Amino acid sequence: MTKVLSVASECAPLVKTGGLADVAGALPAALAPLGIEMRTLLPGYPAVLSGMNGGEAVVLFDDLFGGPATIWAVELAGLDVLVLDAPHLFDRAGNIYLNDEGHDWPDNPQRFAALSYAAAHIGVEGAGAWRPDVIHGHDWQAGFVPEYLHGLAGGDDHVPFVFTIHNIAFHGNTGAEMLDTLMLDDWRFTADRYEFWGQISAIKAGLTGAAKVNTVSRTYAEELMTPEFGMGMEGVLRARKSDLTGIVNGIDLDVWDPATDPEIARYKTGKGKAKAKKILQAEFGLPESDGPLCVLVSRLTHQKGIDLLIEALPNVLARGGQLALLGSGDTDLEVALLALASRFDGVGVKIGYDEALSHRMMAGGDAILVPSRFEPCGLTQLYGLRYGTVPVVALTGGLADTVINASPAALAMDVATGVQFSPVTADAFANALSRLCDLYADPDVWAKLQRNAMKQPVGWETSAKAYGDLYAQVLKS
Ligand code: ADP
Repeated sequence: MTKVLSVASECAPLVKTGGLADVAGALPAALAPLGIEMRTLLPGYPAVLSGMNGGEAVVLFDDLFGGPATIWAVELAGLDVLVLDAPHLFDRAGNIYLNDEGHDWPDNPQRFAALSYAAAHIGVEGAGAWRPDVIHGHDWQAGFVPEYLHGLAGGDDHVPFVFTIHNIAFHGNTGAEMLDTLMLDDWRFTADRYEFWGQISAIKAGLTGAAKVNTVSRTYAEELMTPEFGMGMEGVLRARKSDLTGIVNGIDLDVWDPATDPEIARYKTGKGKAKAKKILQAEFGLPESDGPLCVLVSRLTHQKGIDLLIEALPNVLARGGQLALLGSGDTDLEVALLALASRFDGVGVKIGYDEALSHRMMAGGDAILVPSRFEPCGLTQLYGLRYGTVPVVALTGGLADTVINASPAALAMDVATGVQFSPVTADAFANALSRLCDLYADPDVWAKLQRNAMKQPVGWETSAKAYGDLYAQVLKS
C-alpha cells in the first residue's frame, strides 16, 4: 500500500472554483483500486469546517504564520481529509482566493505557505500514525512543499514530492522582503530554485524542487516549454524536460452519467436529448429552433476566449443556432454577454455558478463550446463527450488531446468526436461554428458524431495508472 498526501487549495465537492478541485476530489477514488491510499490536505475554509462532525486532532501548531493551527483527520464526503484549521488564515467569508474587490487576499503568500508548511510537517513527522510515502502537490499553493521539506528534514533526504501544474498562469509570486515571514532559507533564494526576477515564486519552488513534474495533458506539457504558453516559466520547464509529463484529466463517471443523472431524471427526460433540449430552451428563455443549441459553462476570463465567442456567434445564430451560456467572472465580459442576450432571441445568458444547471446544459445542449486561448486540460468538453454534446474546441492543450476533429478523413473513418479550430481567432471560430451547423444539418453524420463522442473513454482509469507509475518512479529513485 503506497500512501500519498495530496496537497490542494480546493477539492470537490467540498470547495471548488475550477478544474483543480475536480481532479483533487476524484484522484483518491481513482487510485484506491491500484493500492494507493491518498489523503488530502485542505485549508480549513468555512465550507470545509462546516461539514465537519468530529475528527481527530493529529497535529498542533502554536504559531503557524501568525496564529495557532490544528490539523484534523476527518472523513468528509467520502474523502480522507486532513483539514488545516488555521482561523487567522482561512476562516473568512467570500472567495477562497479573492477579497470582495476581486483582488487576491493580501496574505495569500502566508495562507498557502502555511498549507505547504503543514504538508512538509506531515511528510517529516507524520499526521498521527499516518505518514505519507509521497507528497503530491497541486499548483503554486503547494509550491513551497519541497523547500519546507528540505528545512524540516535538514537536507534532501526526505519524502519525494510530485508537482502537478493545472494552470501555469498563476505563479504565487511575492516580494523578496517576505523571505523571513514565509520562513524560507534566504541562502536558497537563487535562480536555480525559487528566485524569479527578484521575486519569491511559489510555482518555481515547486517546479525546481519536485522529483517529477506533470501537467494535465500532453499537448499542454509541450506548450509549457514555449514562450507563448510558458508564462515566463518556459526556461524552468525546459530544464526539467526529462522529468515533465502530461497526464490527461478524467471525469467522475458516476457524477457525470447521462443514464442516471438526477438533474435529468428530475425532469423526467429519460435519455432523450430532444426533450432535455426543450426544457433547457425554456429555462434560458429561448424559442424552439431547427439549429444546434450550443452551450458554454465557464469562468468568464480572457483565457476562455469569451470575447471570441461574442464576435463569432452571429454566424451560428444566422443559421438557426442558439447559445445558452452559464458563467461568472470579469465584469466587462458579463456585461457584454448580457447585452448579447438582450439583442438576440437565440442567446440566453445566466451569470452565476450553478452545478445542477451545468448538468442540465450538458444533457440538453447539442454542442459544447470551448474556445480557450490556452487550456491545460479542460473538463467541460469531457462532460460533453459523455453526454453526446458535441465539443467545438480550440486546438490547444487538453482540447487538442481529447477531441477528434471532424475532418473529411476522420468522418470517413467514423472516428470524429467534435470540431476543432486553429488559430484561436474569432474568424476560425466562426468557421468552426459554420462547420458545426453543416454537420448538424445531416442527421446521419450528426448521430455518428454523437455516438463516437459517447464511446470515448473519459474516466480516470488510464490516467490513474499513469499517476501510480509516477509515484512508483519517485519512490524508486
Ligand atoms: P478551469 O479549471 O480553468 O476553470 P476546467 O474546464 O478545467 O476549467 O474546469 C472548470 C470546472 O468548473 C468544470 O467542472 C465546469 O463545469 C465548472 N464550472 C465553471 N464555471 C461554472 C459555472 N458558472 N457553474 C457551474 N460549473 C462551472
